[in-house]
Amino acid sequence: MIKLISFSIFLISLLGCNSVSNEDLIVDKLPLKTIEAQTKIISVLTGNETIDNTSYSINSRTTIEERQMARAYISQIIKQLNLTPIEHKYQEPNTNAFIDLLIGPFRGTNLFTKVSSKTSSNEYIVLGAHYDTARNCPGANDNASAIAILYGVLKKLSNLQSRNKNVIIVFFDQEEEDLVGSRAFAKYLIKNNLNVHSVHTFDQIGWDKDADKAIELELPTPEIETLYKTQADKLNTPIYITKVNSTDHQSFREVGFNAVGITEEFVNGDTTPFKDTENDTFETIDMEYIASTTQLIFEVMQQLVNEN
Ligand SMILES: [Zn+2]
Repeated sequence: MIKLISFSIFLISLLGCNSVSNEDLIVDKLPLKTIEAQTKIISVLTGNETIDNTSYSINSRTTIEERQMARAYISQIIKQLNLTPIEHKYQEPNTNAFIDLLIGPFRGTNLFTKVSSKTSSNEYIVLGAHYDTARNCPGANDNASAIAILYGVLKKLSNLQSRNKNVIIVFFDQEEEDLVGSRAFAKYLIKNNLNVHSVHTFDQIGWDKDADKAIELELPTPEIETLYKTQADKLNTPIYITKVNSTDHQSFREVGFNAVGITEEFVNGDTTPFKDTENDTFETIDMEYIASTTQLIFEVMQQLVNEN
């Protein structure tokens, strides 16, 4: 709560001392309008407010119905950016053969959209974040935070004048069920023979109590580490490298993709104390951190899509 209030005061003070409209106001190079949209995304996805024009609240994103509601909402925000949401439905065997026999395979749906290259490039950068949650958990930090960041990055990438690579932004189902959705999506990329440059997955990225804006990169290759550090240095953002492997990027590394995870200071300990609980709520999200991270990730992706 404190973080959100201080962010509001911060915005009000900026508005008060400048004769700028909401439209023009920039925080960490991000228009206020984008930050407002990101705030709303986290609010709706965590049941803090109802879905537009309905009385429905998404209180967690675990059951088939809850995940379907979340997906419909994310589809709607993709369409608002004049992009096309595409559903990737999958069926994956349960890793435990006995359970598979009892309850059948996992069925789920990933949701993605594509921002095309403006050249004839067949190369793809893939950015992903899971949209499901642990049971009875509003999942603000885990993982509405990353969905909001990817929305902001998607918006800026789709407005670029030049792009020499294609970008896929994907929202994974069933990360909390042993990475089922991202594993299915890795198979989908292989099946469609896509030329993937790198895969970047985002998980738990809304907590920054020490306000240093730092992020952790999980298992980057040297090239990816340099890419992020070069852009982070320009923004005075600290970056730490860790070996955490237990989230969606693992699914892509397993089958040979160049994949990296991006998160808050999970290993360093500046991380939400509310993981997988009913207290992982909207109020705990640091919107200044969402803004600074969105800008950093955009700068990294801009660099990548403009490379030849
Ligand atoms: Zn997560």
